[in-house]
Amino acid sequence: MNGRPLLQVEGLRKHFPFTKGILFAKTLGHIKAVDDVSFEIRAGETLGLVGESGCGKTTTSRMILNLEEPTEGRILLDGEPIHGLQGEALRAYRARVQAVFQDPWSSLNPRMKVGRTIAESLIVNAWGDRARIDERVRELLLQVGLRPEQAQQYPHEFSGGQRQRVALAAALASRPKLIVLDEPVSALDVSIRAQMMNLLKDIQAQDDVAYLLVAHDLATVRHMADHTVVMYLGKIVEKAPTASLFDDVRHPYTKALFSAVLVAWPGQAAEEIELKGEVPSPLDPPSGCRFHTRCPYVMPHCSQHEPALRQVSRGHFVACYLFE
Ligand code: SF4
Repeated sequence: MNGRPLLQVEGLRKHFPFTKGILFAKTLGHIKAVDDVSFEIRAGETLGLVGESGCGKTTTSRMILNLEEPTEGRILLDGEPIHGLQGEALRAYRARVQAVFQDPWSSLNPRMKVGRTIAESLIVNAWGDRARIDERVRELLLQVGLRPEQAQQYPHEFSGGQRQRVALAAALASRPKLIVLDEPVSALDVSIRAQMMNLLKDIQAQDDVAYLLVAHDLATVRHMADHTVVMYLGKIVEKAPTASLFDDVRHPYTKALFSAVLVAWPGQAAEEIELKGEVPSPLDPPSGCRFHTRCPYVMPHCSQHEPALRQVSRGHFVACYLFE
């Protein structure tokens, strides 16, 4: 593949201090929420970021949204570092990188008509006169499968799926290059999840927008993502083109995630691994391979040294001693 990626994430780390006391707080240690994470997203593509809760996927997406500063590493959009953006440059970044969250209420004001919510970023950025903004709101409502006259309604008058469409219309208003989709369908009824996923794919094909899809649900990732990154305790354990990952899953942790959903994919050839116990604390992660306390294939050296992420086939990387 040629050309520069839209988004580059390089050696990203986020360590939160863990403190005790209020007035004279003492730092007892650091929570390594994200620890040396690198990946890239190309224009018009979807990257799925998966893992159990606490794996660092949300912190990673918050750094990409410029809501958290990295402790180390950098993020580049169109080759430009996003660190330290302020004023107009930060506003422009926020217009180019938008988000849709699991709960659409988080981005909708219950007392505001949805047309006004969708128009908000256009008004703030003095995008055009009132007639032009009204026209754009109509266009956006149609694009997400709603009727233009629904601009006059309040969020409570919509179903959960429709509210998610409104949140998507608001995110699309500023013609972003990247949208962070944080569990975008997991709060929706199973019957309407496919509709929402298809809508997201149609919009991507029309607008060439890229998605960072943060999800714990592998079915959503399989349907939507071109590439998938699997995280465990702040680290990437496997990353690959989605088709390659689902055809040839390698890392024991990814296999365990897959076994949990095998029932949903009858006929899928994969080894069954039961994931035992809880994810260990990121405050004191296990030494060596962070998965060694739960891995059925653990070997003596797994707890001593950390395995590096190595390429096992074209574009498919795994961090596990079984593949060295
Ligand atoms: Fe399991 Fe060792 Fe591989 Fe870690 S490096 S996943 S402990 S086999």
